[in-house]
Amino acid sequence: MTKIQIKTPIVEMDGDEMTRIIWKMIKDILLIPYIDLNTEYYDLGLEHRNETNDQVTLDSAEATKKYGVAVKCATITPNAARMSEYNLKEMWKSPNGTIRAILDGTVFRTPIIVKGITPYIPTWTKPLTIARHAYGDIYKNTELTVPEGSKCELVVTDSKGCETRALIHEFKDTKGIIQGLHNTDKSISSFAKSCFNFAIDKKQDLWFATKDTISKKYDHHFKDIFNEIFEAEYKEKFDKLGIEYFYTLIDDAVARVIRSEGGYIWACKNYDGDVMSDMVATAYGSLAMMTSVLVSPEGLYEYEAAHGTVQRHYYKHLKGETTSTNSVATLFAWTGALRKRGELDNTKDLCDFADKLEKATIQTIENGTMTGDLYLLSSLEGKKKVNTEEFLLAVNEELKKLL
Ligand code: NAP
Ligand code: MG
Repeated sequence: MTKIQIKTPIVEMDGDEMTRIIWKMIKDILLIPYIDLNTEYYDLGLEHRNETNDQVTLDSAEATKKYGVAVKCATITPNAARMSEYNLKEMWKSPNGTIRAILDGTVFRTPIIVKGITPYIPTWTKPLTIARHAYGDIYKNTELTVPEGSKCELVVTDSKGCETRALIHEFKDTKGIIQGLHNTDKSISSFAKSCFNFAIDKKQDLWFATKDTISKKYDHHFKDIFNEIFEAEYKEKFDKLGIEYFYTLIDDAVARVIRSEGGYIWACKNYDGDVMSDMVATAYGSLAMMTSVLVSPEGLYEYEAAHGTVQRHYYKHLKGETTSTNSVATLFAWTGALRKRGELDNTKDLCDFADKLEKATIQTIENGTMTGDLYLLSSLEGKKKVNTEEFLLAVNEELKKLL
């Protein structure tokens, strides 16, 4: 059999712990036998990040800018415990944060749905994608506690030194708290463009919601920017595809989301996205079945699993025990990247392979072969729990039938 070719290299970002083990298994069992795996490899494993003073993370993001498509393994974000475990020179920043800042991208999370696992909200029969604006608002706030008798104002000093003031509150008979928030037109516009682009990519409706009735300048500004960009740059494309941009109040959005069947993209402000993405992930059953893609406003894509490095399983693995770790989200990160690369390079056989590999994975689970996390959730009769490697081997058997 001649192997499928990849015209333009895919940026491959290797990672840590159990997901690093899974990464290699996926490549060895499901990719290398079928594809001439043309990747530019960056080792984002914590040891190598430490050796390179995190330069490797910056390089991998630059490579994504150059080639357009990346696939990333989960990585450790160092904390105090990791400092000693890996003997780190510094508490290196989260690679995801670094890459997101360089690509100026938005993260879209989509669940993978299989028969036998019913979402907690049973009407959600289609995947609901959540996009979180990952800049500003309370995540870059300034807060103060305020003593009784204080007067608090917003003060803006412009470039010419002119001041504009607005009263926040006079704390006449009690102490209290205040908080300053900001966002930028640049960041909101990037977020909007990433969302519109992704909706076109997925051929799905885009929903966006804020609290603009209460926050008449701040939240309303998000609404206005989305509207302006949509009308100027995207309306025609949406009309052609028969998809819709739908704006509503956040409360109304929440009510509608619960009643919906899924199958659209829900763009959220930073805090809404933080909270709602956990709700959506939980409702669909398992974090191990949630994919994630970072999309930049100019259309660069970085695919990954939404979960972390599954540390607890890794320590079992190190002790020589077999684990039953779910590889599906990591596998779908690969298929996402392969398909996107195929689309951009116009190599249909690569897209077809990605489709078939996803189909084989879902078929394997729906036939009753699954890892422990899904085994606990699945209502299929005759379901069978297998270990990490056995699952991938079973997927390969299904894949062979489709090729
Ligand atoms: P985690 O790796 O997502 O795992 C938390 C728990 O969820 C696991 O212990 C496991 O539960 C379950 N789980 C997650 N993924 C699974 C899978 N594929 N198959 C089966 N079970 C799965 O989160 P964490 O333990 O909080 O974080 C570990 C490391 O990952 C940290 O160093 C963190 O910095 C990093 N992290 C990285 C990313 C990223 O790179 N995108 C994201 C989040 C966290 P049971 O133990 O009950 O089986
Ligand atoms: Mg959260």
